Amino acid sequence: MAELQTIVNEIHQALLPRLGEGKVADYIPQLARVDPKKFGIAVIDIHGRVYKAGDCDEPFSIQSVSKVFTLTLALGKHGETTWNRVGREPSGSAFNSIVQLEHENGKPRNPFINAGAIAISDLVMSGHTPREAIGEIVRFVQYLADDETIAIDPDVARSETATGYRNFALANFMKSFGKLDHAVDHVLGVYFHQCALAMSCTQLARAALFLANNGKNPLTGHTVVSSQRARRINALMLTCGHYDGSGDFAYHVGLPGKSGVGGGIMAVAPGRASVAVWSPGLNQVGNSLLGSVALEMLAARTGWSIFGTQ
Ligand code: GLU
Repeated sequence: MAELQTIVNEIHQALLPRLGEGKVADYIPQLARVDPKKFGIAVIDIHGRVYKAGDCDEPFSIQSVSKVFTLTLALGKHGETTWNRVGREPSGSAFNSIVQLEHENGKPRNPFINAGAIAISDLVMSGHTPREAIGEIVRFVQYLADDETIAIDPDVARSETATGYRNFALANFMKSFGKLDHAVDHVLGVYFHQCALAMSCTQLARAALFLANNGKNPLTGHTVVSSQRARRINALMLTCGHYDGSGDFAYHVGLPGKSGVGGGIMAVAPGRASVAVWSPGLNQVGNSLLGSVALEMLAARTGWSIFGTQ
């Protein structure tokens, strides 16, 4: 295998002519006006060596990538009882679909579709006001990335709240089945703020490093979760991390990962490295188009697919 920085540079160079492909999310103005030609990639190996290229230090809206961090928090608070509220199966429907909720009495299929993430936000709130829960999420992400500058973009949070009709529908629907403990507007306040976290590829890769290293952040020495829990979170990212494109992502890339409509993807090569890519143009199921291509190239060049080394 070529030196990792060479591979990262080659991926960046190869994609330069394609920048701008895909469709930037436009449901809120803050996302619609992001430059579609942005591209960043950061890889951090479990020894803490960083390999990066492009706009890798520019913060962007992490959106659904945040669902990995809130799931980790909820599991820390509630352990396996978390799964009484949300399942562990791929959804097969769009990320914001409501149909499945009706068939399963208001229990979302997994923690990474919107309904499931809203149920997880409700669990993170236990014993907290919405403001305290939001503070806890921000501090947790800062702790994971070892970076106190990470913050929420308040304009994104406001816009999410103003336009989040579908999420209100999902939350009200779950509430009608008794599946949320807290008031709908409080739970959604937490959810919209977590989606509005702004992070760079470098920060995201640092925050994911514990998942690549059996639950322990090798940079800080902090044990974040047990190795069993890290493995299980990775399993969920692999099966459910890319909305209705999770099977395709596993087929092409073969790494656990989580995408967001801001164009970010956080991925994990267990025992090797964490990776974050950012390219705002999305494919038809809402995953970063060039981000997915970049990760496919990286997995092919490094042999990091969890399904085989060739
Ligand atoms: N804030 C977005 C929503 O809830 C997140 C979507 C996503 O990244 O999947 O609709």
